[in-house]
Amino acid sequence: MQFNLNQEQLAFQKAARDFSAGELAPHAQEWDEKKLFPVKTIASAGALGFCSMYCDEKVGGLGLSRLDTVIILEELAAGCTSTAAFISIHNMASWMITQWGSDAIVKHWATALMSGEKLASYCLTEADSGSDAGNLRTSARADGEYYILNGAKAFISGAGATDVLVVMARTGSADDGPKGISAFVVPADAAGISYGKNEIKMGWNSQPTKTISFEDVRISAECLLGREGEGFKIAMQGLDGGRINIASCSIGAAQATLNHAKQYMQERRQFGQSIADFQALQFKLADMVTELVAARQMVRLAAFKLDNDDADKTTYCAMAKRFATDIGFRVCDEALQLHGGYGYLREYPIERFFRDARVHQILEGTNEIMRVITARRLLAEGGTEAIR
Ligand SMILES: Cc1cc2nc3c(=O)[nH]c(=O)nc-3n(C[C@H](O)[C@H](O)[C@H](O)COP(=O)(O)OP(=O)(O)OC[C@H]3O[C@@H](n4cnc5c(N)ncnc54)[C@H](O)[C@@H]3O)c2cc1C
Repeated sequence: MQFNLNQEQLAFQKAARDFSAGELAPHAQEWDEKKLFPVKTIASAGALGFCSMYCDEKVGGLGLSRLDTVIILEELAAGCTSTAAFISIHNMASWMITQWGSDAIVKHWATALMSGEKLASYCLTEADSGSDAGNLRTSARADGEYYILNGAKAFISGAGATDVLVVMARTGSADDGPKGISAFVVPADAAGISYGKNEIKMGWNSQPTKTISFEDVRISAECLLGREGEGFKIAMQGLDGGRINIASCSIGAAQATLNHAKQYMQERRQFGQSIADFQALQFKLADMVTELVAARQMVRLAAFKLDNDDADKTTYCAMAKRFATDIGFRVCDEALQLHGGYGYLREYPIERFFRDARVHQILEGTNEIMRVITARRLLAEGGTEAIR
């Protein structure tokens, strides 16, 4: 068993850390305040391969492992959590397109998606089906060489600013449940698509979130990912990786706030001494760093399971997502507390990390759903041996 990063991973980590410190961190506050989606910066990340991290080299991707990917995303998130999180969604959607897309689709989209010149959104959630995604109602009706899409998606990250949508839609009947769902690659400007207003959010302000409506949107049959009826499975396979990516974004945010808190405690004086000298606060720091290290290792373990196509990879990804996003948020919260009133001010970056990390407990499957996945496997036959 080897816990150290290898030379290559250390090099990726450094490249991501440098990019994050130079290109993300200095602008994160402005992007948050002005709600700017930094597409040019995302393309610069793409130039370093960060928009195609685990896409196959055959399609122009970087061909990294999931373990390499979480190391990079953690660093990006320490600069701007919201932008790193969008990059993670783009990577997930691009991977789905290149993994299951027809030759024509891959040829059409891959190069621009890998470079970050074009961006992708993942469209699963609907107003009435969030956690219960298998009950989604957006429909795709076959019509000769085409499919016709009708329905609406909610909460779509990047919507209105991305170029291509991975849309999960029903090709079967409502009674077919998840088995009646197929996945499609849809040009974001196809006739019949309209976008709602940019949602006003607590965090994740450097990326838009909108509803998307589909009214008789005609797309070529070549836009189908995999086969009819495989869409839900494809969506969930995308999310295995998506969940550990989002978990890494929480780790990155938490590490950044921990670093800020440590420095602040050493500088801030009260009662004639540095607040870092109060043992109660030292214990807090000790707990924060301990839990953060545990969460990071949990994410890396899940990434390892995914890389090795372990039979229980989905459960490990769910456990890691639940644990790391809960711990990540708690560390951000504690770091804010350690800053006293200053932690609450926009002048300091802590409250932004806190706001950005909060949503990670909700999206890509809520942490309650992560517990559903974990408990279901544990209680099934062989569960005790599978998860230990
Ligand atoms: C900023 C933001 C960006 C997003 N981006 C995207 C995106 O790009 N693409 C996309 O498809 N979606 C996206 N989402 C949607 C997100 O994935 C959903 O919000 C999430 O899956 C929860 O669905 P819901 O909001 O409908 O909550 P609900 O499913 O209505 O859940 C409400 C509450 O009930 C709990 N609950 C539900 N079912 C159970 C159960 N069986 N057992 C225990 N508790 C349960 C939930 O955990 C939650 O606490 C985004 C959401 C946000 C906020």
